[in-house]
Amino acid sequence: MAIRNVRKIGDETLETVCRPVKKMTDHIQELIDDMLDTMYDANGVGLAAPQVGVLRRIVVIDVTGEDPYVLINPEIVETQGEQECYEGCLSVPGKVGVVTRPAYVKVRALNRDMEEFELEGEELLARAICHECDHLDGIMYTTKVIGELEDAPLNTEKDDEEE
Ligand code: ZN
Repeated sequence: MAIRNVRKIGDETLETVCRPVKKMTDHIQELIDDMLDTMYDANGVGLAAPQVGVLRRIVVIDVTGEDPYVLINPEIVETQGEQECYEGCLSVPGKVGVVTRPAYVKVRALNRDMEEFELEGEELLARAICHECDHLDGIMYTTKVIGELEDAPLNTEKDDEEE
């Protein structure tokens, strides 16, 4: 397990569509462990593989700090409603911006054993799922911000919701 370097906005890895995972390997298990370490180290609520330079469709999300989800080849299969909220991103340090996301999201994905499961989320979890799935298609939240990017509060805590 190790903390990996998080790519920053401007890095072309962050604007590239990622490839699906076809087969679980030790290498990918190690990548997932490192992604979790990297997310927790940075006090993030989510991290996508391209953020650590790997163009694979893998995201990790933990909005509570103790209940991580690993989503491999995730696909959003249902959305409802709308919410407008500040988002941040570990690849865009020190900045936040308002983004419109669905209020409810259902995502289908594979777990670490390559078994299919579905996850439903509202509020922060719905936003995190959308934000991280966008990363897999090379889409940064900064392209969806309403108005301007703003400076994040200096005192960054867990609930600053950096993804
Ligand atoms: Zn992000």
